[in-house]
Amino acid sequence: MKINKEWHLAHPMPPHANLDQRIAWHIEHQKHCSCRKISGKLKEEMIKRNTKIK
Ligand SMILES: [Zn+2]
Repeated sequence: MKINKEWHLAHPMPPHANLDQRIAWHIEHQKHCSCRKISGKLKEEMIKRNTKIK
């Protein structure tokens, strides 16, 4: 697992991110970094929305 530190510094998760924001963040995140996996409710929600996840 590799952390893209520069991307994280430039794209912090909003402090009170709602579900839409979290999904949007993870979509961008997975393009640039693989430090965090999408799991649990967030994953379910993304599948429901037909979001492409790795
Ligand atoms: Zn990351």
